[in-house]
Amino acid sequence: MRLVKFTIDGVAKTGTVEGDQITPLGGGELLDLIWRDGDRPLAGLAPTTRRRYALDEVRLLPPVVRHPRCLFATGWNYRTHFDEGQGKRGGDVEEPTAPTFFSKPASTIVGPHDPISIDQDVSSQFDYEAELVVVIGRPGRNISQADAFSHVFGYMVANDVSARDVQRRHGGQWFKGKAMDRTCPLGPWIVTADEIPEPEALTIDCLVNGEVRQHADTASMAFPIPRLLEELSAGMTLLPGDILLTGTPAGVGFARTPPTYLVDGDQVISRISSIGELQNRVRQVQPTDSMPEYGAAYAVD
Ligand code: MG
Repeated sequence: MRLVKFTIDGVAKTGTVEGDQITPLGGGELLDLIWRDGDRPLAGLAPTTRRRYALDEVRLLPPVVRHPRCLFATGWNYRTHFDEGQGKRGGDVEEPTAPTFFSKPASTIVGPHDPISIDQDVSSQFDYEAELVVVIGRPGRNISQADAFSHVFGYMVANDVSARDVQRRHGGQWFKGKAMDRTCPLGPWIVTADEIPEPEALTIDCLVNGEVRQHADTASMAFPIPRLLEELSAGMTLLPGDILLTGTPAGVGFARTPPTYLVDGDQVISRISSIGELQNRVRQVQPTDSMPEYGAAYAVD
């Protein structure tokens, strides 16, 4: 099942996607659906109307909104990406023996077709990172690798757009450069886990202005999904609706010769087989821009 959140005539709705048609559902937010029914999050879902919508007549929103906390993310989870950065980060780093995690604020999230906002007064090095996203369904703490997939609700695509100069400026931590408003497109829908029996056999691509910049198989993750969930949940409960970005493969802009960063007007496509693709235009922030559209909506009720 492909679960979407969308607006039509200014009204936000949830729905399921088949082909190019959306069937609206009851139940409010997707996050509420994931929380409400625990192990059976989709039980009882039914169309609320006979009305269908075409995908191209609605605006798709980030599938999980009103998220109660941050997004979790993984660094250096493809050996090829780790290797391409060696010598370009201001010193070599030893290959990690455990996953590298960081968090991103929810105010980074934009929809699957929304602009990626860049503020070139803040950074001249905005870079793309296409990633497979895991959505947690069943809560858990100290999750074992053997049980890991029973906690997965579904999968999405994200682009962990990163301001490289800001990332390196603040003491080697990763939060600040990956926390810029409206820089993380998410979606285009949640594909439920039953439809992705082999999440480590997917193809991941990132195209900029039609040029393939990243192309890899999720099988080449350094730390597969069960290991990520075991390590991330050690001593920290994962909650329904939690989102984990699982890292990006080689081909990012900073490691190219010469480095190539995103600029106003670029088109970024982030695509994963069996899930779908994000299509986002890069747009320079304007002084008149409002606060992030979804930021306030992420507050806990
Ligand atoms: Mg990343």
